[in-house]
Amino acid sequence: MGKGTYSRAIAKALGVPHISTGDILRREVAAGTKLGKAVKGYMERGLLVPDSIINLVVEKRLSQPDCARGFVLDGYPRTLSQARFLESRFPVDVAVLLEAPDDVIVERVSGRLVCPRCGATYHVKWKPPKVPGICDVCGAKLVRRRDDDPEVVRERLRLYRETIRPVVDYYRGLGKLLEFDASIDSREGIPLLLEKLKAFRAARPYAQAVHV
Ligand code: AMP
Repeated sequence: MGKGTYSRAIAKALGVPHISTGDILRREVAAGTKLGKAVKGYMERGLLVPDSIINLVVEKRLSQPDCARGFVLDGYPRTLSQARFLESRFPVDVAVLLEAPDDVIVERVSGRLVCPRCGATYHVKWKPPKVPGICDVCGAKLVRRRDDDPEVVRERLRLYRETIRPVVDYYRGLGKLLEFDASIDSREGIPLLLEKLKAFRAARPYAQAVHV
């Protein structure tokens, strides 16, 4: 949904860690850990992992020393209970809502290809590999993540819109919500979002951390 691209770029510009709960969980699944086994079924079906599991994962990661000076979260919180938990343990300065029409999102996400061997990512339309279906870096056969199938994406979106509303209302109520139209090209969008974030933080000098 572009959130990976945006949040990675923002974290880099701010010099803080980029923490994607989806990436953490995918690594656990690939490594076949106890946590990975517990979350695999949810992820393959495009369902949210239970709050009790994901909150522990995030708490552990944000307690590490590299997060002391701030962090950018990607894909968390996704439910009101996650937002309340985060706010009670690691209150954020700003929550960014990236918005785009469903069709734009489905096109972007379902065109993604990933290399199962080295992790390089591609897009059939926007960032195609030199040889169709083959990784430029290591030559392995590219795959589509199971949860990037168009049908799974639509189910994720439906769930997302249903559960995100109370999260958005929560951050709006706290005066921490920044809404951003992410349907423009990210090369234009990233500098624009950075500007908006800086203005947002300047208006709130107590700022310490950022959440996307
Ligand atoms: P993402 O890469 O952020 O789209 O996440 C991929 C999958 O990981 C999601 O479809 C969920 O199954 C799971 N996941 C990631 N973040 C969360 C979260 N905050 N709450 C629940 N499940 C999550």
